[in-house]
Amino acid sequence: MLATRLKRARKAANLSLRGAADRVDVSHSAIKKYEDSKNVPNSTQLIKLAKAYGVRTEYFFRPINITLSGVEFRKRPGATKKLLRKIEAEVLEQVERWQELVNLYPIFPIKSFTLPTSLPKYITKLDEIEKIAEQLRKQWELGNNPMADFVDTLETLGIWVLFTDIENEEKFDGLMAYHNKQAIIVVSSNWTGDRQRFTLAHELGHLLLHDRLDEKIDEEKACNRFASAFLLPQSALYQHFGETIRNVELRELYLLKQEFGLSMSACLFRLHDTGLMSLTILKSHFRQFKKKGWHQHEPGEPIPAEKSFLFKQMVYRALAEGWSTESKAAELLNMPLSHFHQERKLEVVDAAFD
Ligand SMILES: [Zn+2]
Repeated sequence: MLATRLKRARKAANLSLRGAADRVDVSHSAIKKYEDSKNVPNSTQLIKLAKAYGVRTEYFFRPINITLSGVEFRKRPGATKKLLRKIEAEVLEQVERWQELVNLYPIFPIKSFTLPTSLPKYITKLDEIEKIAEQLRKQWELGNNPMADFVDTLETLGIWVLFTDIENEEKFDGLMAYHNKQAIIVVSSNWTGDRQRFTLAHELGHLLLHDRLDEKIDEEKACNRFASAFLLPQSALYQHFGETIRNVELRELYLLKQEFGLSMSACLFRLHDTGLMSLTILKSHFRQFKKKGWHQHEPGEPIPAEKSFLFKQMVYRALAEGWSTESKAAELLNMPLSHFHQERKLEVVDAAFD
Protein backbone atom coordinates (compact mmCIF):
# COMPACT_ATOMS: atom_id res chain seq x y z
CA MET A 1 0.00 0.00 0.00
CA LEU A 2 2.72 2.45 1.00
CA ALA A 3 4.63 1.51 -2.15
CA THR A 4 1.71 2.34 -4.47
CA ARG A 5 1.11 5.62 -2.75
CA LEU A 6 4.75 6.64 -2.92
CA LYS A 7 4.68 6.07 -6.64
CA ARG A 8 1.36 7.82 -7.09
CA ALA A 9 2.54 10.89 -5.17
CA ARG A 10 5.74 11.05 -7.21
CA LYS A 11 3.79 10.91 -10.47
CA ALA A 12 1.38 13.55 -9.25
CA ALA A 13 4.38 15.77 -8.50
CA ASN A 14 5.57 15.08 -12.04
CA LEU A 15 8.99 13.84 -10.91
CA SER A 16 11.10 11.11 -12.45
CA LEU A 17 12.90 8.68 -10.13
CA ARG A 18 16.06 10.71 -10.63
CA GLY A 19 14.26 14.00 -10.10
CA ALA A 20 12.84 12.70 -6.84
CA ALA A 21 16.23 11.32 -5.79
CA ASP A 22 17.83 14.73 -6.29
CA ARG A 23 15.31 16.35 -4.01
CA VAL A 24 15.39 13.88 -1.14
CA ASP A 25 19.08 13.11 -1.32
CA VAL A 26 18.81 9.33 -1.69
CA SER A 27 19.62 7.26 -4.75
CA HIS A 28 16.99 6.75 -7.42
CA SER A 29 17.35 3.00 -7.00
CA ALA A 30 16.48 3.36 -3.31
CA ILE A 31 13.27 5.16 -4.27
CA LYS A 32 12.54 2.48 -6.85
CA LYS A 33 12.90 -0.14 -4.11
CA TYR A 34 10.38 1.69 -1.92
CA GLU A 35 7.95 1.79 -4.82
CA ASP A 36 8.45 -1.90 -5.56
CA SER A 37 7.92 -2.85 -1.89
CA LYS A 38 11.47 -4.16 -1.70
CA ASN A 39 12.41 -1.75 1.03
CA VAL A 40 10.63 0.61 3.42
CA PRO A 41 11.69 4.22 3.98
CA ASN A 42 12.30 5.29 7.57
CA SER A 43 10.37 8.20 9.05
CA THR A 44 13.00 10.83 8.21
CA GLN A 45 12.99 9.73 4.59
CA LEU A 46 9.21 9.70 4.51
CA ILE A 47 9.09 13.29 5.71
CA LYS A 48 11.60 14.27 3.02
CA LEU A 49 9.62 12.43 0.35
CA ALA A 50 6.38 14.06 1.46
CA LYS A 51 8.02 17.46 1.25
CA ALA A 52 9.44 16.76 -2.20
CA TYR A 53 6.07 15.55 -3.48
CA GLY A 54 4.07 18.34 -1.87
CA VAL A 55 1.89 16.03 0.23
CA ARG A 56 1.50 15.41 3.93
CA THR A 57 3.02 12.19 5.29
CA GLU A 58 -0.48 10.96 6.16
CA TYR A 59 -1.10 10.72 2.44
CA PHE A 60 1.22 7.71 2.21
CA PHE A 61 -0.93 5.74 4.65
CA ARG A 62 -4.38 6.46 3.32
CA PRO A 63 -6.14 3.29 2.22
CA ILE A 64 -6.56 3.08 -1.55
CA ASN A 65 -10.00 2.27 -2.78
CA ILE A 66 -10.34 4.73 -5.59
CA THR A 67 -10.75 3.81 -9.21
CA LEU A 68 -12.09 5.88 -12.03
CA SER A 69 -14.37 4.65 -14.77
CA GLY A 70 -15.84 6.09 -17.93
CA VAL A 71 -12.87 8.40 -18.27
CA GLU A 72 -13.36 10.79 -21.14
CA PHE A 73 -10.29 12.84 -21.95
CA ARG A 74 -10.58 15.93 -24.07
CA LYS A 75 -6.97 15.41 -25.00
CA ARG A 76 -5.55 16.68 -28.18
CA PRO A 77 -3.47 14.47 -30.44
CA GLY A 78 0.06 14.46 -29.12
CA ALA A 79 -0.77 14.47 -25.41
CA THR A 80 2.04 12.45 -23.88
CA LYS A 81 1.53 9.40 -21.68
CA LYS A 82 3.50 11.18 -19.01
CA LEU A 83 1.04 14.07 -19.00
CA LEU A 84 -1.95 11.75 -18.84
CA ARG A 85 -0.37 9.85 -15.92
CA LYS A 86 0.28 13.08 -14.08
CA ILE A 87 -3.33 14.17 -14.54
CA GLU A 88 -4.65 10.80 -13.46
CA ALA A 89 -2.50 10.75 -10.33
CA GLU A 90 -3.56 14.28 -9.41
CA VAL A 91 -7.21 13.46 -9.98
CA LEU A 92 -7.04 10.26 -7.92
CA GLU A 93 -5.43 12.14 -5.07
CA GLN A 94 -8.21 14.73 -5.04
CA VAL A 95 -10.97 12.17 -5.45
CA GLU A 96 -9.59 10.30 -2.45
CA ARG A 97 -9.73 13.44 -0.38
CA TRP A 98 -13.31 14.10 -1.50
CA GLN A 99 -14.33 10.55 -0.66
CA GLU A 100 -12.68 10.78 2.73
CA LEU A 101 -14.54 14.01 3.42
CA VAL A 102 -17.87 12.49 2.39
CA ASN A 103 -17.19 9.49 4.64
CA LEU A 104 -16.85 11.77 7.66
CA TYR A 105 -20.51 12.71 7.35
CA PRO A 106 -23.37 10.58 8.69
CA ILE A 107 -25.31 11.81 5.65
CA PHE A 108 -23.58 14.03 3.13
CA PRO A 109 -25.91 16.98 2.43
CA ILE A 110 -25.24 17.18 -1.32
CA LYS A 111 -26.66 14.37 -3.40
CA SER A 112 -24.62 12.97 -6.27
CA PHE A 113 -25.56 14.06 -9.74
CA THR A 114 -28.21 11.95 -11.42
CA LEU A 115 -29.32 12.11 -15.03
CA PRO A 116 -32.55 14.06 -15.52
CA THR A 117 -35.41 11.77 -16.51
CA SER A 118 -36.56 14.34 -19.07
CA LEU A 119 -33.60 13.58 -21.36
CA PRO A 120 -34.60 12.05 -24.69
CA LYS A 121 -33.38 8.46 -25.15
CA TYR A 122 -32.26 9.09 -28.68
CA ILE A 123 -30.99 12.22 -30.39
CA THR A 124 -30.92 12.28 -34.16
CA LYS A 125 -30.14 15.91 -34.94
CA LEU A 126 -27.68 18.41 -33.51
CA ASP A 127 -30.44 21.02 -33.35
CA GLU A 128 -32.33 18.93 -30.78
CA ILE A 129 -29.56 19.79 -28.33
CA GLU A 130 -30.80 23.40 -28.23
CA LYS A 131 -34.08 22.27 -26.74
CA ILE A 132 -32.36 19.98 -24.26
CA ALA A 133 -30.13 22.82 -23.04
CA GLU A 134 -33.11 25.16 -22.60
CA GLN A 135 -35.14 22.51 -20.84
CA LEU A 136 -32.36 21.70 -18.39
CA ARG A 137 -31.88 25.36 -17.57
CA LYS A 138 -35.58 25.48 -16.73
CA GLN A 139 -35.59 22.24 -14.78
CA TRP A 140 -32.53 23.26 -12.76
CA GLU A 141 -34.01 26.72 -12.21
CA LEU A 142 -31.12 28.57 -13.79
CA GLY A 143 -33.19 31.11 -15.70
CA ASN A 144 -32.00 32.68 -18.93
CA ASN A 145 -29.33 34.97 -17.54
CA PRO A 146 -25.57 34.41 -17.58
CA MET A 147 -24.37 31.92 -14.98
CA ALA A 148 -22.12 33.94 -12.72
CA ASP A 149 -20.49 31.06 -10.91
CA PHE A 150 -20.60 27.99 -13.08
CA VAL A 151 -18.53 25.74 -10.83
CA ASP A 152 -20.93 26.43 -8.00
CA THR A 153 -23.86 25.55 -10.25
CA LEU A 154 -22.31 22.20 -11.14
CA GLU A 155 -21.37 21.46 -7.55
CA THR A 156 -24.93 22.17 -6.45
CA LEU A 157 -26.08 19.65 -9.05
CA GLY A 158 -23.84 17.09 -7.32
CA ILE A 159 -20.83 17.05 -9.66
CA TRP A 160 -17.34 17.20 -8.16
CA VAL A 161 -15.30 19.81 -9.99
CA LEU A 162 -11.56 19.30 -9.66
CA PHE A 163 -8.75 21.60 -10.71
CA THR A 164 -5.33 20.50 -11.91
CA ASP A 165 -2.40 22.83 -12.46
CA ILE A 166 -1.77 21.63 -16.01
CA GLU A 167 -0.22 24.45 -17.99
CA ASN A 168 -2.26 26.32 -20.53
CA GLU A 169 -0.07 25.14 -23.41
CA GLU A 170 -0.27 21.44 -22.51
CA LYS A 171 -2.35 19.17 -24.68
CA PHE A 172 -5.14 18.66 -22.19
CA ASP A 173 -8.69 19.90 -22.69
CA GLY A 174 -10.51 18.67 -19.63
CA LEU A 175 -11.80 15.37 -18.36
CA MET A 176 -14.96 13.66 -17.20
CA ALA A 177 -15.01 10.47 -15.15
CA TYR A 178 -16.96 8.51 -12.61
CA HIS A 179 -15.81 7.34 -9.22
CA ASN A 180 -18.41 4.69 -8.38
CA LYS A 181 -21.53 6.66 -9.29
CA GLN A 182 -20.07 10.06 -8.53
CA ALA A 183 -19.58 12.26 -11.59
CA ILE A 184 -16.33 14.21 -11.75
CA ILE A 185 -15.19 16.95 -14.10
CA VAL A 186 -11.60 18.16 -14.24
CA VAL A 187 -10.30 21.44 -15.65
CA SER A 188 -7.05 23.34 -15.29
CA SER A 189 -6.70 26.18 -12.83
CA ASN A 190 -4.35 27.91 -15.29
CA TRP A 191 -6.95 28.51 -17.96
CA THR A 192 -8.98 31.66 -18.47
CA GLY A 193 -12.55 31.63 -17.18
CA ASP A 194 -14.13 31.29 -20.61
CA ARG A 195 -12.03 28.24 -21.44
CA GLN A 196 -12.84 26.66 -18.08
CA ARG A 197 -16.54 27.35 -18.45
CA PHE A 198 -16.72 25.99 -21.96
CA THR A 199 -14.85 22.85 -20.93
CA LEU A 200 -17.04 22.33 -17.86
CA ALA A 201 -20.17 22.66 -19.98
CA HIS A 202 -18.69 20.39 -22.68
CA GLU A 203 -17.95 17.68 -20.10
CA LEU A 204 -21.44 18.10 -18.66
CA GLY A 205 -22.56 17.44 -22.24
CA HIS A 206 -20.72 14.10 -22.20
CA LEU A 207 -22.44 13.19 -18.94
CA LEU A 208 -25.83 13.94 -20.43
CA LEU A 209 -25.53 12.92 -24.05
CA HIS A 210 -23.29 9.86 -24.00
CA ASP A 211 -25.07 6.79 -25.44
CA ARG A 212 -27.99 8.89 -26.66
CA LEU A 213 -26.55 10.16 -29.91
CA ASP A 214 -27.31 8.80 -33.33
CA GLU A 215 -24.17 7.32 -34.86
CA LYS A 216 -24.18 10.06 -37.52
CA ILE A 217 -23.58 12.65 -34.80
CA ASP A 218 -20.04 13.25 -33.60
CA GLU A 219 -20.08 13.28 -29.78
CA GLU A 220 -17.42 16.00 -29.55
CA LYS A 221 -19.43 18.29 -31.83
CA ALA A 222 -22.59 17.52 -29.90
CA CYS A 223 -20.92 18.39 -26.60
CA ASN A 224 -19.57 21.64 -28.05
CA ARG A 225 -23.04 22.52 -29.21
CA PHE A 226 -24.46 21.66 -25.82
CA ALA A 227 -21.79 23.72 -24.05
CA SER A 228 -22.46 26.88 -26.01
CA ALA A 229 -26.24 26.42 -25.92
CA PHE A 230 -26.18 25.89 -22.18
CA LEU A 231 -23.93 28.88 -21.50
CA LEU A 232 -25.65 31.20 -23.96
CA PRO A 233 -29.25 30.07 -24.51
CA GLN A 234 -30.95 30.62 -27.83
CA SER A 235 -33.81 32.53 -26.23
CA ALA A 236 -31.37 34.96 -24.60
CA LEU A 237 -29.82 35.61 -28.03
CA TYR A 238 -33.23 36.12 -29.66
CA GLN A 239 -34.17 38.54 -26.91
CA HIS A 240 -31.05 40.52 -27.65
CA PHE A 241 -30.72 40.30 -31.44
CA GLY A 242 -34.18 39.45 -32.75
CA GLU A 243 -34.33 36.51 -35.14
CA THR A 244 -31.94 37.53 -37.85
CA ILE A 245 -29.00 39.91 -38.18
CA ARG A 246 -27.01 41.18 -41.12
CA ASN A 247 -23.76 41.47 -39.25
CA VAL A 248 -22.29 41.88 -35.80
CA GLU A 249 -19.84 44.46 -34.47
CA LEU A 250 -16.64 43.19 -32.89
CA ARG A 251 -17.41 45.26 -29.81
CA GLU A 252 -20.79 43.50 -29.58
CA LEU A 253 -19.01 40.15 -29.50
CA TYR A 254 -16.67 41.44 -26.84
CA LEU A 255 -19.57 42.62 -24.68
CA LEU A 256 -21.40 39.34 -25.18
CA LYS A 257 -18.28 37.51 -24.06
CA GLN A 258 -17.97 39.64 -20.93
CA GLU A 259 -21.64 39.13 -20.16
CA PHE A 260 -21.93 35.37 -20.68
CA GLY A 261 -18.35 34.22 -20.08
CA LEU A 262 -18.16 32.56 -23.50
CA SER A 263 -15.28 33.31 -25.88
CA MET A 264 -15.85 35.67 -28.80
CA SER A 265 -15.33 32.85 -31.30
CA ALA A 266 -17.85 30.67 -29.46
CA CYS A 267 -20.29 33.60 -29.55
CA LEU A 268 -19.78 33.88 -33.30
CA PHE A 269 -20.55 30.20 -33.78
CA ARG A 270 -23.55 30.64 -31.55
CA LEU A 271 -24.95 33.39 -33.77
CA HIS A 272 -24.65 31.08 -36.74
CA ASP A 273 -25.86 27.89 -35.02
CA THR A 274 -29.04 29.61 -33.89
CA GLY A 275 -29.74 30.78 -37.42
CA LEU A 276 -29.19 34.46 -36.68
CA MET A 277 -26.15 34.97 -38.89
CA SER A 278 -25.24 33.57 -42.29
CA LEU A 279 -22.34 31.21 -42.90
CA THR A 280 -20.73 33.79 -45.22
CA ILE A 281 -20.58 36.38 -42.46
CA LEU A 282 -19.34 33.79 -39.96
CA LYS A 283 -16.53 32.80 -42.31
CA SER A 284 -15.50 36.38 -43.01
CA HIS A 285 -15.25 37.04 -39.26
CA PHE A 286 -13.11 33.98 -38.77
CA ARG A 287 -10.75 35.04 -41.52
CA GLN A 288 -10.33 38.30 -39.63
CA PHE A 289 -9.86 36.48 -36.31
CA LYS A 290 -7.11 34.36 -37.82
CA LYS A 291 -5.35 37.33 -39.36
CA LYS A 292 -5.26 39.07 -35.99
CA GLY A 293 -4.31 35.94 -34.06
CA TRP A 294 -7.56 36.16 -32.13
CA HIS A 295 -8.31 32.48 -32.74
CA GLN A 296 -5.53 31.88 -30.20
CA HIS A 297 -5.58 34.94 -27.98
CA GLU A 298 -8.66 37.11 -27.91
CA PRO A 299 -8.17 40.83 -27.26
CA GLY A 300 -9.05 42.63 -24.05
CA GLU A 301 -9.73 41.50 -20.53
CA PRO A 302 -9.87 37.73 -20.12
CA ILE A 303 -12.79 36.23 -18.19
CA PRO A 304 -11.62 35.66 -14.58
CA ALA A 305 -10.93 32.02 -13.66
CA GLU A 306 -13.65 30.04 -11.90
CA LYS A 307 -13.30 29.25 -8.22
CA SER A 308 -14.48 26.39 -6.09
CA PHE A 309 -15.44 26.80 -2.47
CA LEU A 310 -17.45 23.67 -1.78
CA PHE A 311 -14.70 21.32 -0.65
CA LYS A 312 -13.32 23.72 1.89
CA GLN A 313 -16.79 24.68 3.07
CA MET A 314 -17.66 21.03 3.67
CA VAL A 315 -14.39 20.46 5.54
CA TYR A 316 -15.31 23.29 7.90
CA ARG A 317 -18.90 21.99 8.15
CA ALA A 318 -17.58 18.62 9.32
CA LEU A 319 -15.33 20.38 11.80
CA ALA A 320 -18.18 22.48 13.17
CA GLU A 321 -20.32 19.39 13.71
CA GLY A 322 -17.50 17.54 15.41
CA TRP A 323 -17.22 14.93 12.64
CA SER A 324 -13.65 15.90 11.83
CA THR A 325 -10.66 16.64 14.01
CA GLU A 326 -8.54 19.66 13.31
CA SER A 327 -5.68 17.54 12.07
CA LYS A 328 -7.94 15.56 9.72
CA ALA A 329 -9.30 18.84 8.35
CA ALA A 330 -5.77 20.14 7.79
CA GLU A 331 -4.85 16.91 6.05
CA LEU A 332 -7.87 17.09 3.76
CA LEU A 333 -6.95 20.64 2.82
CA ASN A 334 -3.32 19.66 2.34
CA MET A 335 -2.20 22.32 4.76
CA PRO A 336 0.28 22.37 7.64
CA LEU A 337 -1.63 22.00 10.91
CA SER A 338 -0.24 25.25 12.33
CA HIS A 339 -1.38 27.15 9.29
CA PHE A 340 -4.78 25.52 9.35
CA HIS A 341 -5.19 26.44 12.99
CA GLN A 342 -4.48 30.09 12.19
CA GLU A 343 -6.81 30.02 9.22
CA ARG A 344 -9.54 28.47 11.31
CA LYS A 345 -9.27 31.29 13.85
CA LEU A 346 -9.17 33.85 11.01
CA GLU A 347 -5.72 34.90 12.16
CA VAL A 348 -4.62 34.33 8.57
CA VAL A 349 -7.02 35.30 5.86
CA ASP A 350 -4.61 35.43 2.94
CA ALA A 351 -5.80 34.23 -0.41
CA ALA A 352 -2.75 32.03 -0.97
CA PHE A 353 -4.34 29.09 0.80
CA ASP A 354 -7.85 29.51 -0.58
ZN1 LIG B 1 -15.27 15.73 -25.32
